[in-house]
Amino acid sequence: MIMNLDILMSVKSIVVKITLVANCILLQLCYQNPCNHKNAPQVDRNISFVASGDTKDSSDIRKESNYIKKSFGKTVQGRDIVGYVFGNKGYPLTLILTVHGDERPAGLLIEMLVDYLKDNINEIKGQQVIVVPHLNSDGWANQTRTNANNVDINRNFPTGWSSEYSQERYCPGRESASEIETKVLIDILRNNPPDKVIVIHSPLHEINYDGPAIELAKEMQNYNRYPIVRDIGYETPGSIGSYIGKIMDIPVITLELSNDNADRVWKENKDALIAGICFETHKSAARGGGPSCGPGRK
Ligand SMILES: [Zn+2]
Repeated sequence: MIMNLDILMSVKSIVVKITLVANCILLQLCYQNPCNHKNAPQVDRNISFVASGDTKDSSDIRKESNYIKKSFGKTVQGRDIVGYVFGNKGYPLTLILTVHGDERPAGLLIEMLVDYLKDNINEIKGQQVIVVPHLNSDGWANQTRTNANNVDINRNFPTGWSSEYSQERYCPGRESASEIETKVLIDILRNNPPDKVIVIHSPLHEINYDGPAIELAKEMQNYNRYPIVRDIGYETPGSIGSYIGKIMDIPVITLELSNDNADRVWKENKDALIAGICFETHKSAARGGGPSCGPGRK
């Protein structure tokens, strides 16, 4: 009788386990996105592509007279991660991007930079520039810092990545490089190794830098007069700055704009950005550099 009871209990336990696994599969409860918080901003999964006026037809490479517009990948909500490629192959390359969709001054400034380069390409004398206006194009459309999975892309890179986070807005994802935006940027960096990178944020009003970038920071400061800050004041595990500066040893500027309107931040930073693009790093100088250029020199 006791033995029969044991067998009955075992069978019951197996049935319970099978039921749990079946539920887990059917209800997709096996894995919960750690960033799907109760209070996370809700996004409309059916939202149409409204991030930026001229990015609708960008799924194919489109060559204009002095730049190439292309999609580097697609987000979970189906938006293109659009990039603009300027300049001549073989010349020093600067990569410029934004990552947080709710930082409007940054997103608008970078769109103004693209328009400016289209019309004033002579000012950079053929230096190569890849501009990715909105790496987090879902966040830009939805006006959220995080991507559509509620992950902060700037905490998702494989550099000191940690599952710990202090606020929902910093949620780092289920593992490092779990997000498509992170993978796209890593691919861009591998396929087009830049001489320097400028990542634009707001609203801290400072120039932060990682890697061998102090001279680049000073050059940009000559034009925008922002304070240079070595340490942003809090830990940023898994950040783009750490990944590019520390892991890849590439000079990277985190340009934190003030929270002013787009026209004012453009006025403050246009020359600083052109100076950043034209700045010659030690590595590009050793390779023979490129033509010398600078703000206002056409
Ligand atoms: Zn930011």
